[in-house]
Amino acid sequence: MRIGDTVHYVSYGTPGGEFPSVCRAATVTEFGDTQLLGLCVLNPTGLFFHPLADGGCEYDPAIGRTPRGGTWHGMDECNPDGAAMARLWSGNSSGIGPFREHGKKQSGSD
Ligand SMILES: [Zn+2]
Repeated sequence: MRIGDTVHYVSYGTPGGEFPSVCRAATVTEFGDTQLLGLCVLNPTGLFFHPLADGGCEYDPAIGRTPRGGTWHGMDECNPDGAAMARLWSGNSSGIGPFREHGKKQSGSD
């Protein structure tokens, strides 16, 4: 891993579930001890910084379970069946992804 590489940062979400915990793209800005990283998180609405000076982000590959909020894992380690991605996509019954099927009209339109 190098400075500038991209990993996944796991957002915290809200306790009531209004905002679920999801994976966000994050750029590595610093290396700390024992897999601690400083990250610049690319949220859809803006950047969020987690420098080592504020504690950084711990590594949590979360095999077979949901990763903890505030942690990072490699994009290749992201488990679409068991972790945050499944939660991210849980609103879509097709299981394909968060996108409307191409060419399909939304009910109520036209
Ligand atoms: Zn992920």
